[in-house]
Amino acid sequence: MSGQAAFDRLKSGEAARKRDFGLEARRAALRALAASIRAHEAEIMAALAQDLHKPAVEVRLTEILPVLAEIRHTLRHLRGWMRVRGVWPTLAMLGTRARLRPEPKGTALIVAPWNYPLSLALGPLVSALSAGCAAVIKPSEMAPATAAVVGRIVADLPPGLAEVVEGGVETATELLALPFDHIFFTGSPEVGKVVMAAAAKHLASVTLELGGKSPVIIGPGADLKRAARMIAWGKFANAGQTCIAPDHVFVPHAQQAAFLAALRAQIAAMYGADPQASGSFARIINARHFARLAGLLRDAQGQGATVAQGGEMREGDRYMAPTVLTDTRAGMEVERQELFGPILPVIGYDDLAAVIDRINAGPKPLALYVFEKDRAFIENVTAQTSSGAVGINVTLAHYLHLNLPFGGIGNSGLGAAHGIWGFRAFSHEKPVLEDRFSSLALLMPPYSGAKDRLARLVQRLLG
Ligand code: NAD
Repeated sequence: MSGQAAFDRLKSGEAARKRDFGLEARRAALRALAASIRAHEAEIMAALAQDLHKPAVEVRLTEILPVLAEIRHTLRHLRGWMRVRGVWPTLAMLGTRARLRPEPKGTALIVAPWNYPLSLALGPLVSALSAGCAAVIKPSEMAPATAAVVGRIVADLPPGLAEVVEGGVETATELLALPFDHIFFTGSPEVGKVVMAAAAKHLASVTLELGGKSPVIIGPGADLKRAARMIAWGKFANAGQTCIAPDHVFVPHAQQAAFLAALRAQIAAMYGADPQASGSFARIINARHFARLAGLLRDAQGQGATVAQGGEMREGDRYMAPTVLTDTRAGMEVERQELFGPILPVIGYDDLAAVIDRINAGPKPLALYVFEKDRAFIENVTAQTSSGAVGINVTLAHYLHLNLPFGGIGNSGLGAAHGIWGFRAFSHEKPVLEDRFSSLALLMPPYSGAKDRLARLVQRLLG
């Protein structure tokens, strides 16, 4: 189906949705989505094995579970989120009654990336449906097997709620030219700018879930074994192709050798002596990204970086070993680009203030991780930096906490997803004000001397 046809089909149902898509209908749609995901579970597993060699446990925990958990959470809380809420009148508005009434924005566009190609296409759909919107989904062309399954999952939903349009940049461009009411984009900051510019043409609102380099700061009092385990897991899950994966690590010089040893031990414990033979380690999405990562590694080594662990590559299998680099420098590409692969620079430091200055000098990251026991150290880092979120002695897990908003700031994104924040992204919180016995009429023209005195009094009392 063309983008235009999908848009027209959903847009034409907007009036009926406003009328009929209430709490119970939205719940039914979400239950249908959950049932369809469950019915296609075997296909999901096969598709993600094909696209990313994604281990089945990771598919369950990072693709299927987040969407089903989001549905479950939404089913439980939707009544409260949809409630029309009364607000107290301010002094000037005595005699009026005011309410906040969430209404669906209308017809939305969801553009998804390839790294979690199921959950990042269907998670935003949960939020759209919860808010009473319909949505066109454009999955990533780089994970084609999963894109096809997303199409089949959505095809099993009641008609008029969602359409999937498969295709690449050309299809995305065609869709972005249409007057959607909200655009929910997940992907790179570069394409995020293209999306925001396209949205401006129709003054569509946007949620931008973007990426960037998420740093880790290890403090002098950190439990290094725990830090190494969390960082190895966060970095090498999905072969590093995770928006909130630790991008690079700052560790005090005095702890660097011990941390590297702990990291090597954790990598061996998780992926064995030969990670290529491990059933727990994913592959790089395609030849282009493989060449990009190989180039980054070559560039770093050529400029004097040391491979402290890993470094092996097999192009035919798109395999890159969990790789740890030391001796990297600020000018190298590995310290400039979002790595988005299994390469982890470990950078020694002596002065925390310099690390904080360096983070603050760059674009605001999507996540920042701190490993330390000392509360003052943690507070210092948290208060003095800006990022989409902060993880303390943990990586990745804030993504799964549905009572926390998930999103970036500045270069890492705009707006937030998950739970009530996802509902709000697709809703307009409409203020409704009703006059009952306000005194507004006393201040209307003609403006006599008495009204002038009254206006002065009102200004003195309320201004
Ligand atoms: P991408 O920006 O290349 O592509 C994302 C989507 O945009 C795809 O569907 C693609 O077809 C489309 N697209 C690509 N170029 C386009 C163009 N010129 N015009 C219109 N549409 C276009 O991103 P990606 O490579 O799929 O994903 C990796 C990036 O996404 C990383 O930066 C990562 O950090 C980020 N990411 C962020 C989150 C998050 O939740 N914040 C989650 C996953 C990935």
